[in-house]
Amino acid sequence: MILLNPGPVNLSERVRAALAGPDLCHREPEFGELQSEIRRNLLAVYDLDPEQWAALPLTGSGTAALEAMLGSLVPATGHLLVVTNGVYGERAAEIARRYRLPTKTLAHPWKAAVDLEALERDLDSAPTPTHVLVVHHETTTGRLNDLAAIGALCRARGVDLLVDAVSSFGAEALDFEAWGITASAGSANKCLHGAPGAAFVLTRRAALPPRRVAAASLYLDLGAYCRAQDAGDCLFTPAVPIFHALAEALREHAEDGGWRARRRRYGALAQQAAQGLAALGIEPLLPQAASSVVLRAYRLPARVSYATLHDGLKARGFVIYAGQAALAREIFRIATMGQIAAADIQALLAAIGELVTPASPQENTLHQHN
Ligand SMILES: *Cc1c(COP(=O)(O)O)cnc(C)c1O
Repeated sequence: MILLNPGPVNLSERVRAALAGPDLCHREPEFGELQSEIRRNLLAVYDLDPEQWAALPLTGSGTAALEAMLGSLVPATGHLLVVTNGVYGERAAEIARRYRLPTKTLAHPWKAAVDLEALERDLDSAPTPTHVLVVHHETTTGRLNDLAAIGALCRARGVDLLVDAVSSFGAEALDFEAWGITASAGSANKCLHGAPGAAFVLTRRAALPPRRVAAASLYLDLGAYCRAQDAGDCLFTPAVPIFHALAEALREHAEDGGWRARRRRYGALAQQAAQGLAALGIEPLLPQAASSVVLRAYRLPARVSYATLHDGLKARGFVIYAGQAALAREIFRIATMGQIAAADIQALLAAIGELVTPASPQENTLHQHN
């Protein structure tokens, strides 16, 4: 089955094999070495200095990393501004509510770009935010939010920028230093091509709370994670096989040429899909310039329901992804992450062609004669 959903992804054979790595006790130095390699290589993806930055892997999905980041890095005296233009921004706002963080939300419709003038007004109006959370790649629509511009506004005001980079980390540009990013949340099973079950936060060390400040969550206390991991230890039982797979996925990512090569590869596959779909009369939801290379949303063709398209494709070996909430009737999504190749996209396009072109034998004959 070819997975075109935004994670979990089709694994490479070497990452799959790593899942069956040696049984390890997480209190032994062998696990400490595995964890340290993962931490070094996560920072290396974007050339971050380990003196200034810490990578903190944890067991859980991407949402756990988001909870850890928001719950640990926004102090009780802080004020958070959450920028939303899709499901994941709204989820971050909900996390902030559950943690009772003083929060305001700059909400946009799901198809909209971030309104930089409105953001500027919110940054300058009382209570002035100390932290901003924004989703880099809003997987809801495939939009790549303009982090450089958002980061510049935050940086000019000394506001900490927290980024949900769960569906962009490893395959899109993320200039942590130039864009003034304080921390980002990511997960193993999206653009890094690891298995589901591990996630991570990359944070400036200076942004971690002092030892005397306990986070609201015992399990997701990043200050405590960092102290333990710096000592080669870990707090709780980690998903050891998933860590083996993440270590292998990071080696493969580096050997393949890092995020730039992965961005090129995804971009070529996304372009191939977009061109093939355009030839079938299927339009993208967003202009290409606003889109990530990781996932694109397309308008459902008039005569074909999502269920018909999904089920027909699944019978042919492909899993596509539905739109969420109101977008469920309007779009379908194709992610190009994971171990997939141009030949898979070609086969996908042929399968979609079978499902969206009228099936009557006369019409088919007519088409052939044209
Ligand atoms: C996948 C994703 C998440 C996390 O979802 P999980 O199901 O917890 O892994 C968060 N943000 C974005 C933008 C995502 O695409």
